[in-house]
Amino acid sequence: MQPVDIEKYSRQVLFAPIGEEGQRRLLASSAVLVGCGALGSASANLLVRAGVGRLRIVDRDFVEPSNLQRQLLFDEADARDSLPKAIAAERKLLAINSAIRVEGVVADLTPRNAANLLSGFDLLLDGTDNFETRHLLNDFSVSHGVPWIYAAVVASYGLTLAVVPTMTACLACLLESRTVQDLEPTCDTVGVLNQAVGVIASLQSAEALKILSGRADALHGRLLTFDVWTGRSQSVAVVRNPQCPVCAQRIFAHLEGSAQPHVTMCGRDSVQIHEHARQLDLAGLGRRLAPAVSAVQHNDFLVRFAVPPYEVTVFADGRAIVKGTRDAAVARSLYARFIGT
Ligand SMILES: [Zn+2]
Repeated sequence: MQPVDIEKYSRQVLFAPIGEEGQRRLLASSAVLVGCGALGSASANLLVRAGVGRLRIVDRDFVEPSNLQRQLLFDEADARDSLPKAIAAERKLLAINSAIRVEGVVADLTPRNAANLLSGFDLLLDGTDNFETRHLLNDFSVSHGVPWIYAAVVASYGLTLAVVPTMTACLACLLESRTVQDLEPTCDTVGVLNQAVGVIASLQSAEALKILSGRADALHGRLLTFDVWTGRSQSVAVVRNPQCPVCAQRIFAHLEGSAQPHVTMCGRDSVQIHEHARQLDLAGLGRRLAPAVSAVQHNDFLVRFAVPPYEVTVFADGRAIVKGTRDAAVARSLYARFIGT
């Protein structure tokens, strides 16, 4: 290590489980962060300051004024300029630590570009806001033998779990063990506290620090949850499911694209998302959406609402039509934000 690095990272090097050897490994390590919203911003900030050698940031969105309450890498100028989050994050992170290789990529992670965007890194980090992308990360991780760290925050609570292929349970093991078939609340409908983001990003990036500094032996292997409002937390051992379709049977449906909602153009200025496998509670969805969006109407067959310049119509079978765009990524993003996945 250069003397300048010994000085820069001195307080972390003094922490015995890291030491000079751990810092050297960290500086030579690489990670790819998918999604740079609230969690992604906070984790990227912590890891770049810690000295991760190379960080790629993949994000499909632009900075908006409502992001600034919790997305710590962005400021009013980024929102005014509608800068892509990947680009704004890259600039901010390089100003924080110019010795790190930071690469912002403006893209929507899909089965088609996953190999291109995720290959060649030591670790994948979840900063996404939807299960469609998380399942894709899980499939890629297990099939390529690369660890990833799941994390999610909504309202005042969040959770995180490090997935190390062949060593720990995977996301599919975890979800199979619970009965989450109903609608997930999303940050766009029930809000989110920036303090909850801070806690979960810290727990997530601490596991990342262990993996990238060569101390995977120190991973606790548990699903951690924390609620900053009630003060409740949990630490749960997640057991591998011997029948898990992903890590036991090695069926990678999301990576192969067969599990992705089918998106088609419909009409001149609309995109249709066909989602199978679920029945929506339209009245409940209408109630949850009312404070977050405008012009909510619902009847027995559909819920319609506006997020200018878009209008979204959701049907009871989960299908949605997004008016005002021909871009599948925009439609999928709106679906993930307001309806959940
Ligand atoms: Zn599994």
